Amino acid sequence: MALLPAAERCQKQVSSAGYWHSRQCYSRFSLTREGVRYCKVHDPVRVQEKRDAQYAEYEAKWAKEREGMRRRRAESKACEGISTKALEEGVVKEMVKAAKSALSAIRRMERTLEEDEHLISVAMHLATVLAKAEEE
Ligand SMILES: [Zn+2]
Repeated sequence: MALLPAAERCQKQVSSAGYWHSRQCYSRFSLTREGVRYCKVHDPVRVQEKRDAQYAEYEAKWAKEREGMRRRRAESKACEGISTKALEEGVVKEMVKAAKSALSAIRRMERTLEEDEHLISVAMHLATVLAKAEEE
C-alpha cells in the first residue's frame, strides 16, 4: 500500500515501533481541529471522550470497591463478640425478630407503660435500635 502524501494525512506524531523517534500518522485525515488535521483515531475530542469514559468506568469500579470495604468493616464491627457459628446460623436476624416481638409485647401493656418508667425507656430503646437496624 502506497503511503499517502503528508498533506493528506493526520498530523499526529506517533511513536514508530522499534525506533526512538516519532513519525507522522499514516492515516488519511478526516477532520481538522484548530487548523490541525486528524484521523478519527487521533481526533483530540474523541481521545478526550474516550479518556473521560475510561476514567468514569474506573471511578465507578473504585466506588463499588470502596463501598464493599466499608460494608465489610461495618459487618465486622457489628459482629464483635458474636461467634462465627452464631452468625452463620443467622443470630442477628433472630435478634431483630426477637426485639420486634418484645417491643410489640411491651406496647400491648399500655397500662403498665403509663406507670413504669423503666419499661417505657426499654420500649423507646428497642424502637430506636430497630429503626436503626432497618435503615438502608
Ligand atoms: Zn492519526
